[in-house]
Amino acid sequence: MTLVAVTLCACNSNPVYKSYEEYPVYDGSDLELTYTPRTSKFRVWAPTATEVKLLLYDNGAEGAAYETLDMKRSDEGTWLKEIEDDLKGKFYTFQVRIGEKWLDETPGMWVKATGVNGKRAAILDMADTNPDGWENDKRPEQVNFTDIVLYEVHVRDFSVSPNSGMKNKGKFLAFTETGTKNTAGEATGIDHLKELGVTHVHLLPAFDYASVDETRLNEKKYNWGYDPLNYNVPEGSYATNPYDPACRIKEFKQMVQALHKAGIRVVMDVVYNHTFTGEKSHLNLLAPGYFYRMNADSTWSNASGCGNETASERAMMRKFMIESVVHWATEYHVDGFRFDLMGIHDIETMNEIRAALDKVDTSIFIYGEGWTAAGSPLAEEKRALKKNAKELDNIAVFSDDIRDALKGSWMHSEIPGFVSGTDSLEESVKFGVVGATQHAQVDYTKPIYSKAPYVNNPTQIINYVSCHDDMCLVDKLKESKPEGATDEELVRFNKLAQTVVFTSQGVPFIYAGEEVYRNKKGVHNTYQSPDSINQINWDNKTSYKDIFDYYKGLVALRKTHPAFRIPKQDMIQQNLQFIDSLAPNVVAFTLNNHVNGDTWKDILVIYNGNRKAVSVQIPEGKWNLVCHDGKIDLNGFAPVEKNTFKVERSSASILYKQD
Ligand code: CA
Repeated sequence: MTLVAVTLCACNSNPVYKSYEEYPVYDGSDLELTYTPRTSKFRVWAPTATEVKLLLYDNGAEGAAYETLDMKRSDEGTWLKEIEDDLKGKFYTFQVRIGEKWLDETPGMWVKATGVNGKRAAILDMADTNPDGWENDKRPEQVNFTDIVLYEVHVRDFSVSPNSGMKNKGKFLAFTETGTKNTAGEATGIDHLKELGVTHVHLLPAFDYASVDETRLNEKKYNWGYDPLNYNVPEGSYATNPYDPACRIKEFKQMVQALHKAGIRVVMDVVYNHTFTGEKSHLNLLAPGYFYRMNADSTWSNASGCGNETASERAMMRKFMIESVVHWATEYHVDGFRFDLMGIHDIETMNEIRAALDKVDTSIFIYGEGWTAAGSPLAEEKRALKKNAKELDNIAVFSDDIRDALKGSWMHSEIPGFVSGTDSLEESVKFGVVGATQHAQVDYTKPIYSKAPYVNNPTQIINYVSCHDDMCLVDKLKESKPEGATDEELVRFNKLAQTVVFTSQGVPFIYAGEEVYRNKKGVHNTYQSPDSINQINWDNKTSYKDIFDYYKGLVALRKTHPAFRIPKQDMIQQNLQFIDSLAPNVVAFTLNNHVNGDTWKDILVIYNGNRKAVSVQIPEGKWNLVCHDGKIDLNGFAPVEKNTFKVERSSASILYKQD
């Protein structure tokens, strides 16, 4: 029971609740719009409203409402209106009165289709948005989460460059184009992704965000998209026609379908932790205050650093997040979710999201940033922070530990890391190699950030050296280069960094374009920089062929050899052994006994962070060399039978024994 009953005798007043916990919770799955060709049923949750109107429009952005209807108070804080007519093609908004004040119109928060710029909700039949063959679309095969190779890309960056060879520049449909080439005739786009061998494309925000005006696309405005407007609608600027509500939905599905056909799964970056605006967000215009955390002094709390933070611990926000990801996973066949600033959300909500997605498909991957941008009023022990990751069920977190150990501080761009020759980072690198799990040979007092293992299994850790945030790898290594380091050395540092990422236990992640030596002209956070800085320059693939081949070799090494993809902590403890008594800035380990079903019996991996060659005493036997001095060949270079092995400067060597 709730206090809604108090309103029955006071139709001109709104219910008052002592706390958000007292708000009624609606548990039906028909919020906002249920469409059939015969009826459209509108049910909106606005428990503190005095009155709610439904406005119907012919157009998605312009003109006055052709009809304004009163909604009736219904169950658990909802308001209802049913219209017996086929409203397909029409648009609507809700308008809520709180006391004497009419709030702005809103398309609602559960809205699944909109007109241009996401201001009005659209009425359509979702089945009409399915591309041909959609019913046969299948998620590509996947066994363990550690088999995943993530490729983080912004929709626009992928295709917008003049040398991309793609026609649908900056659009979802660019991901459907095959046979595309750069100036020199080398594969770009989806063919390139297949050639590289990544298993998952992770899209920067591709839901409807606010900062790009969809009516002025000729202005070529750019944004990463961390400014959520409508969570359940694809972004309009990535569609060929943002005015047509079905277009963006269909084209998003075509993108997923094409990637699936290429054997690649699709991850969405989801940003439920804040909304573009607070006061006038589509959430706040339904139930003011309810969806957000506030500070003790009634100001908006701001753990997102973007002006507000949502309150996942409240029942209706939790329900919204769960239903939103399930919508993307079922309607769009999305295969994974990357939670922006996941540390703002509560652990219970994240685990309920895992449980809800497990009912769709247990192979859907969930991961997130286990931190916040600022303090939050929600107690730390309740939040989905990296240090609480052991309480998250099958949800992974990013390892900033390995990232900054390898390349140096994200905050201080001039500080170099292990790969550029910085001392005393060996234990941080080892912490990364074991995927932030417990291992007897790691001294946990020494890693740069975490002082304890924080995941249960390597399936819970994302290893990376850069992403869209801060400087990209090429720029960071250049900015922090040690005195006298040459361009040739910068390439060595780069290859060594990714070699550690790809040979560490966990899930490797690369930022799109790193495989073709992408730079962003030294700009740190390019969230609104022009295309000239953000676009992938596809001709780099030809200019830096050696680097592309090396990255491709790393992906192939990992995909061919399950020893690098161990799913369980105890298997690592039993079969991964670090070699002791090495020179400074050298980390070496073996993966033994055909671990995880590998065809190679023993594998020896050595990282040399020094800018000079080092000699390493290696275990006895006949070794085959597959990675050395910046080259990879899985067929093997020369055999190695000496016990003293020389690892070249700033590079990795990988050897294996067949028996
Ligand atoms: Ca938008």
